[in-house]
Amino acid sequence: MLEARGITAWFGDHQVLDRVSLTMPAGQITSLIGPSGCGKSTFLRILNRMHELVPSASLAGEVLLDGDDIYEPQKRLTDARKAIGMVFQKPNPFPAMSIYDNVIAGLKLTGIRADRARKDYLVETSLQKAGLWKEVRDRLRAPGGGLSGGQQQRLCIARSLAVQPRVLLMDEPCSALDPTSTRVIEETMLELASEVTIVIVTHNMQQAQRVSSQCAFFLAGAGKPGGIVEHGPTDAMFGDPQDDRTADYVNGRF
Ligand code: ADP
Ligand code: MG
Repeated sequence: MLEARGITAWFGDHQVLDRVSLTMPAGQITSLIGPSGCGKSTFLRILNRMHELVPSASLAGEVLLDGDDIYEPQKRLTDARKAIGMVFQKPNPFPAMSIYDNVIAGLKLTGIRADRARKDYLVETSLQKAGLWKEVRDRLRAPGGGLSGGQQQRLCIARSLAVQPRVLLMDEPCSALDPTSTRVIEETMLELASEVTIVIVTHNMQQAQRVSSQCAFFLAGAGKPGGIVEHGPTDAMFGDPQDDRTADYVNGRF
């Protein structure tokens, strides 16, 4: 289980999030929805300590992974990255690197040692979980950049899975993809959900309803930092929103 408590975030003196708390249960998919600029990506990056890579960025609050604060001073950055993977809107495989090497690219970075047999195993199982194995099993030595957009995104999912994370964060993972690839990735997410906690940012309300059991609606006021207006089970959020602003947003009146 991943839990954010009182997350407040700044870029310089520009506050972009105000006391955001959210529990993202294991075995579930949580969707973060809301208009552009309300801090969804910032929140997601805080969940795996990417926010601190921006020199002007600062934050307050806690992120607990199964009860452990990932920001405790003695915790290493790579431990957080190993446990909490991330997939971005634009597929970003290493284009000249082989499909095989792309999948295992994260192992070295996170300090995981693996011999050849172990690597072969991780490549096959990760590609299978990402729904890409059958399409690429005969060309694992071909460059990752030669795949279609949807395949590249699944390769990035496989790359994240190879380090066997407990959480997978996905920032608009299908926004740049065609409907067929989107479907394949949604099916992949649903299959993964039993073993990996998934948090997805999406602007696609149908997608939020298809994949997630829980949603959080983010909003930022004029000149005000972003926060969660409402969160809860997806059915309730779409069927019986408690806040007028949520109702307007999920019904496309925004
Ligand atoms: P969303 O993902 O909901 O569209 P973001 O988290 O990307 O929102 O952005 C939230 C706010 O933080 C916006 O006002 C944006 O301009 C600002 N912001 C995001 N990244 C940076 C950055 N690296 N430096 C300064 N401001 C940023
Ligand atoms: Mg964003």
